[in-house]
Amino acid sequence: MKKYVAEPFKIKMVEPIKMTTMEERINYLEEANYNVFALKSDDIYIDLLTDSGTGAMSDSQWAGIMIGDESYAGARGYAHLVENAQDIFGYRYVQPVHQGRAAEKVLFPLLIKQGQHAISNMFFDTTRAHVELSGGKPINFVCEQAADTENYYDFKGNLDIEKTEAYINKVGVENIAVIVMTITNNSAGGQPVSMQNIKDASALCKKYNLKLVIDAARFAENAYFIKTREEDYKEKSIKDITKETFSYADALTMSAKKDAIVNMGGLVCIKDDEDLYQGVKELTIAYEGFVTYGGLAGRDLEALAIGLKEGINYDFLKYRIGQIEYLGDKLREAGIPFQYPAGGHAIFLDAKALLPHISFHQFPGQALTIELYKEAGIRACDIGSYMLGVDAETGEQLESLNEFCRLAIPRRVYTQAHLDVVVEALVEIKSRAAEVNGYEITWQPKVLRHFTSKLKPIL
Ligand SMILES: *Cc1c(COP(=O)(O)O)cnc(C)c1O
Repeated sequence: MKKYVAEPFKIKMVEPIKMTTMEERINYLEEANYNVFALKSDDIYIDLLTDSGTGAMSDSQWAGIMIGDESYAGARGYAHLVENAQDIFGYRYVQPVHQGRAAEKVLFPLLIKQGQHAISNMFFDTTRAHVELSGGKPINFVCEQAADTENYYDFKGNLDIEKTEAYINKVGVENIAVIVMTITNNSAGGQPVSMQNIKDASALCKKYNLKLVIDAARFAENAYFIKTREEDYKEKSIKDITKETFSYADALTMSAKKDAIVNMGGLVCIKDDEDLYQGVKELTIAYEGFVTYGGLAGRDLEALAIGLKEGINYDFLKYRIGQIEYLGDKLREAGIPFQYPAGGHAIFLDAKALLPHISFHQFPGQALTIELYKEAGIRACDIGSYMLGVDAETGEQLESLNEFCRLAIPRRVYTQAHLDVVVEALVEIKSRAAEVNGYEITWQPKVLRHFTSKLKPIL
């Protein structure tokens, strides 16, 4: 069993959280129509809804906020951000934007022509949407091991290179726009991608003269996994691994709300293609704001410049990944199934295995999510059939490959004792699993229903 890696920081400021009773929580759930997005955050004890923009900034970052330069053009924070990003990624051009999807919005239309395919190890949902909005067809070729939730594999996030090459040959290289490597592979459970796989993808792109873009939201967590799991990288620093990773690609898009530990921010960086950078600048001015602020306040640029450096600190990453591994090991010991091994930012609980009596029509991932809130005020979210939705043509409920309930861990926010509360709640739920009920939807919107649908228990 993994020992908890003690925090490499001390706590200077605290944010009180409200304690509620089970009776109160049962009422809040009814008022929220059993949709956790409709709960008030004040009524939540441990919020594991997402790790996006929910991290705690450091004293240095807060100091950066105070010295932020709010000039419209040529702000100090911009120069600082460009310098740090160039140093970390080794790319010449750096464009700040307000978040990850904005980076996709200003880059993808320049890379994708109407009707072309874009290939990824797995597109994140906004990334997929921006491929489609650019007229492209997104397609995923994640390695086979990703589908096996039970057995250990070092790099379940990898791209299947063979399938990708076969596909390029099948549809013709002129019909392929770009290959996107998502590191870590969020949708496959925060699973890492190996350096070898990134190298292989890069070689494939060179062979067919295609551009390789990295979706870099969790680039630092991925570098830590490479250091600890890939033989040749044991002695290398996170910074060197990061530089090598990006040397194999042409550009990156990034949500800085994850590994750069800011509450808002994003980046597009381009290795050396000046024309592409010119295009990105033009779209940024149209959609985000002038190039030296890209939709962010001056103070946010400063916090982001500092956060990029803090995010690649080895001791921080050892604690961060260690926290998720600790939670995973405790759950495994208690016989609670999840996508194994633990991902970099989250545990994906296998609700289908824990609640086998609930069919996909009655949403096991959502049922477990509701139970966690009822039991201990913990907010998770469904990543399964409830989130997937219905067939656009027939209106029939689609069945998701996995029925996950995701516990995403914010950075530098919760302690070992909080994680123990999560384990205890799940042990309690497991002991009465057979009594847990499924749900039906009483109202739903046409798209992205999980955010706003109304549900009721099937008793
Ligand atoms: C979060 C995320 C995005 C989108 O970023 P936002 O900041 O939420 O717009 C894109 N790709 C991946 C892999 C992500 O995790």
